[in-house]
Amino acid sequence: MAYGGLSRKNHYLCFMYKSIRLVRIIISLVAMVIPAWALLCGYESVFVRMRVFTSLLSGVGLCLVFWAIVTLIYGRIYCSTVCPLGTLMDCVSNTRRVVCRSKSDYHYTLPSPRTRIVFLVAAIIALVGGSVFLPTLFDPYSAYSRMIEEFFVRPFGRAYGAVSFSISSFSVAVVTALGIVAASWRRGRLVCNTVCPVGTVLGVGSKRSYFHIEIDPDKCINCGKCESVCKAQCIKLPEKTVDASRCVVCFNCTTVCPNQAINYKSGRYHIDMPMLQNISQGSAAQTSTPK
Ligand code: SF4
Ligand code: SF4
Ligand code: SF4
Repeated sequence: MAYGGLSRKNHYLCFMYKSIRLVRIIISLVAMVIPAWALLCGYESVFVRMRVFTSLLSGVGLCLVFWAIVTLIYGRIYCSTVCPLGTLMDCVSNTRRVVCRSKSDYHYTLPSPRTRIVFLVAAIIALVGGSVFLPTLFDPYSAYSRMIEEFFVRPFGRAYGAVSFSISSFSVAVVTALGIVAASWRRGRLVCNTVCPVGTVLGVGSKRSYFHIEIDPDKCINCGKCESVCKAQCIKLPEKTVDASRCVVCFNCTTVCPNQAINYKSGRYHIDMPMLQNISQGSAAQTSTPK
C-alpha cells in the first residue's frame, strides 16, 4: 500500500533509520565533548577508561574484549558513536559542505589493506620494542587528547602553568590536526580506513559482523544517493556490495535511499536471480522519494 509515495513498511524503515542516525549523532557529539571537558577540568580518569588501543597498552583488556564482541555483532559502531576523532573528522567534512555549499559527493574508492597492515604492524613492533611514540601517535584517543591538551588545556584549563610547554608535543599536535583536516576535508573517513590501527583491528571483526549494511539488488534503482553520502567510501554500486570492514555504520546511506534498498540487517543476501535487478534510473526514484 502506498503511504506518501513510499509503502507503509518503507516509510516505517525510513523513520527508524532517521531516528537511529539522530541518536547516533547525539551520542557521538557527547562522546567527543565529555573527554575534552574531562581534560579541561583535570578529570583524566574519565578519559582513560574510554580508550581502546591504550587499554591494550596498559593491559586493561576488558574494554577491548567488550568492543570486540560489540563489533562482531553490530559492526564498527565504536567508530560512529564513541571515538571522538571520528566525530571530529565528520565535523570537518560537514564543515566543507557548509563552506563550499556543496552536497555530499563521495565515491567508492578501493580499499588499502597494505597501508592498514603497515600502520598496524609498525605500531605493534614499536610497542613490543618498548616505544610508545608510534602507538600513541596513531591511537585515536591519544591523538585527540594531545590536540585538546595542546590547543585548549594549556591555555585555558587547569593544567595551565602546571605543565611546561613542549615544542615537540605541540608540533605533533599541529601536524596531527593538519593531517586530520586535510584527509577528512574531502575524503571523510580516509584516516579511519588507512592509518588508524583501531579501525584496522575493528575492521577485521566488522567484515563478518552479524548485523551489517547490505544492498538488496532487486530493489536498488542505481540512483547513487547512498554512495554519495558514504563517508567511508565503501559502497560499490556496480556490484551492489558494501565493504563491511570499512563501513562505520553511520546510517547515512539508509536514510537517503528512495527505495529502502540498502538496510542494516542480519544474515547475508544471496543473489539468486540477478536478472530481476532493477537497473532503471530516475522514474522510480522520483515517484518514491520521500517528501
Ligand atoms: S577508525 Fe580509528 S580514528 Fe576512526 S573512528 Fe575508528 S577508532 Fe576513531
Ligand atoms: S555504508 Fe552506509 S553506514 Fe556504512 S559508512 Fe557508508 S554510509 Fe555509513
Ligand atoms: S536505490 Fe538505494 S541502494 Fe540503490 S543506489 Fe539508490 S540509494 Fe543506493
